[in-house]
Amino acid sequence: MKPPHTPAKDRDTARYPRDECGVVGLVSNDEEAARSAFFALLALQHRGHESAGIACSDGRELRLHVGMGRVAEVFGERELAPLHGRLAIGHTRYSTTGASDLRHAQPFLRETQNGPIAVGHNGNLINQEALRSDLLRRGVALSSSSDSELILQLLASSAAADWVARIRDFEAQVSGAYSLVLMTREALYGVRDPLGMRPLCVGKVETEAGVSWVLASESVALQALGGTLIRELAPGEIVRLTAGAESFESFPSEQRARRAFCVFEFVYLSRPDSQIEDRNVHELRLRMGARLWQDAPAVGDVVVAIPDSARSAAIAYAAAAGIPYNEGLLKDRLIGRTFIEPDDAMRKLGVRLKYSPLRFPLEGQRVILVDDSIVRGNTAGPIIKMLRQVGATEVHMRVASPPVRHPCYMGVDMARPEDFVAAQRSVAEVAAHIGADSLGYLSLEGLSSSVNGPGQTPLGLCRACFSGCYPLELVHTRLRSSSS
Ligand code: SF4
Repeated sequence: MKPPHTPAKDRDTARYPRDECGVVGLVSNDEEAARSAFFALLALQHRGHESAGIACSDGRELRLHVGMGRVAEVFGERELAPLHGRLAIGHTRYSTTGASDLRHAQPFLRETQNGPIAVGHNGNLINQEALRSDLLRRGVALSSSSDSELILQLLASSAAADWVARIRDFEAQVSGAYSLVLMTREALYGVRDPLGMRPLCVGKVETEAGVSWVLASESVALQALGGTLIRELAPGEIVRLTAGAESFESFPSEQRARRAFCVFEFVYLSRPDSQIEDRNVHELRLRMGARLWQDAPAVGDVVVAIPDSARSAAIAYAAAAGIPYNEGLLKDRLIGRTFIEPDDAMRKLGVRLKYSPLRFPLEGQRVILVDDSIVRGNTAGPIIKMLRQVGATEVHMRVASPPVRHPCYMGVDMARPEDFVAAQRSVAEVAAHIGADSLGYLSLEGLSSSVNGPGQTPLGLCRACFSGCYPLELVHTRLRSSSS
């Protein structure tokens, strides 16, 4: 089966799937919106390490600075000083489409017939090949292979009368997942796709000087600014922020009612201190861990987590099992993907540099090792080996999500079925592959019931990487045609 869209960059380098990006937008009560965007981006750094950028508007012109690397590597005083103005958008990127180079760093800024605009995007357009061909046929020059540039060009080429109408024009042409921040000279717009697949929230920061509006991928960006979360943007909603806030709808209500929020945000992508769709991510992961114990109990002496994202689930698993939880692995947060080269020897070296096992409490113990997910299996194996080297007598792997067997086409870096360790293997075969004494997963039903807990308004979920059931018919159409 040929996937409908396989991004060009190498995908073997990461331990986990990565989200494409973190986005932020501000209408500030002072001229320092870009500095606030910088701090908000620091809080969203986990959503992308490859590049970072901030665009700002002082009401007359838009300015931009982008660079490769982490937010604090790209921005210092010298870069922030020229970025004056009350409006800013920011972006931190992990690429799922387009190569990892400066041409693809966001935000994108362009002059248009309606004045300059800047765009930052999180997600993936399913029909980007057709859109690209159409734009090129119409003589529009494209400087990158990023679908974010496509979005900007579609917005720029609309003949509609105002930006809300131009955004609606763009939305009528695209299919896929998108959470956008769009900035003109005078206003900031937040846009969310009709299924609400990728997160985008709005909040405000209130000081004596006045109110600042903030859009962000996760509420942790608001927390970093001392602000408060107001709400998530609804699926298919456009928010226009100036001194005040206005909301517009883009799609018929029946289309917006079909929600498909990415469940991987709860499994791994989001920070545990984020509040997303009325759910606290840490609390939800605790439920996943407790349910994992029901779905896949194991006998052992100590429960340890692969840090950091599996910690919540491991704590709850241990509590449900009545087995002590302890720290068994230290993680060096300064070792990034740079060291993890796409060949097997270097990848294993990268894992050893990043994770260090603690002889106490592992020596002589039967260890239950909890991770949030296994996608490629190229980290679990080396970690299990390290645990045995410091004296673990048994290692039982438990995973707080179901086996990943299907590609994601909606903005998370999981595009090739052949990458997935569970795609063609039984659970016992995966256990043998990673060297675990046993392996158990959270069930799909257990995952859904953890997200939609008692008393919560049910949230429609995309679970396609686990179930193969995609929320966008276009994916199924393409899968059918590519396999026939
Ligand atoms: S396929 Fe998986 S990773 Fe992709 S949007 Fe759906 S739940 Fe998220």
